[in-house]
Amino acid sequence: MGEIDQEKVAIKAYPLGICAGVDYAWKHARKFLEEDGQAYIIGGNMVNNNLIVKDLRQRGGISVETVHEVPDGAIAYRTAHGGSDAELDILRKKGALVRDFTCLLVANVYDRFNRALAAAAEFGLEPSLLYVCKPDLKHREVAGVVEQFRDHLTIVPHEVPIEELREEEGKYYAIDSQTTMNVEEVRAIVSRMKEIIPSAKTALTNRAGICFATFNRQNALNAVLAEQPDQLLVFGSTISSNTKELVKIGKNAGVETHLLETGALVTEDLVRGHLRVAVSGGASVPIEEPNIAMERLAALGYESRTISAAKERDFFADKIQPPVHDFRNG
Ligand code: SF4
Repeated sequence: MGEIDQEKVAIKAYPLGICAGVDYAWKHARKFLEEDGQAYIIGGNMVNNNLIVKDLRQRGGISVETVHEVPDGAIAYRTAHGGSDAELDILRKKGALVRDFTCLLVANVYDRFNRALAAAAEFGLEPSLLYVCKPDLKHREVAGVVEQFRDHLTIVPHEVPIEELREEEGKYYAIDSQTTMNVEEVRAIVSRMKEIIPSAKTALTNRAGICFATFNRQNALNAVLAEQPDQLLVFGSTISSNTKELVKIGKNAGVETHLLETGALVTEDLVRGHLRVAVSGGASVPIEEPNIAMERLAALGYESRTISAAKERDFFADKIQPPVHDFRNG
């Protein structure tokens, strides 16, 4: 390891890297692939990280875009992004065995909307579910929610712009969101929606449906950005929605920002001329990658610091077994 240069500092934004939901899906998928030998992964990516996708492929995971590609009687894995009941019905007809690795935080969105439907029925009102999401409606999490609740769902702001929303008599309104959105953007959107529709029930008061992992990583990054780094290294994949949010936050703060897949990509050339390097990582990147980056920065003479925005201990892979739907015998 090289000598520490008093002027050079590497600041890690904690929490960073793999979240409880990705840990759950990845650990259980690895374990069950040992038992199952091979399985069809619906939507291709168990989680949105290329290293993990590759790891599962090497262990027997076969990526398929839709449930229609799952052969009759095969074993299929539902990913951390969840999916609709309609998908499950198709797999039932195919006589598949389905292991469900949906993240509990994604499942919570379904639960809250289902509770809103039940409450609307109880009060004799027409349900109106307002779903705030990013423009990519093909993202697995978004596509699943939209398919499940299509009959009562309005996608905001892509289907109906916020300013065109109106509160109507006889309706029961509920607001929820994609789990990996930008916290500040969602706060602004939901607050305006509540001004227009005061009766709307909001999922989580300060962040709509954004999960705690996304919330914590964005808060941690903002705390590190307050230390005025001159370079930000975000670890994760370009396919990861919450990782892209971290990159956007860095760029919006005017900091030179790089999205890197692995810690090994940290080189002297990359950080040359930068005294304060910030390190963050999306919720799907294995924690080894930002850790390797910190080690490489230390070897290049950077003093290591961590700024912690939250304690994250609520990992659930060891406590919860993924549900199984065995449709093989009709
Ligand atoms: S980012 Fe959030 S919703 Fe996505 S897997 Fe992690 S905990 Fe679950």
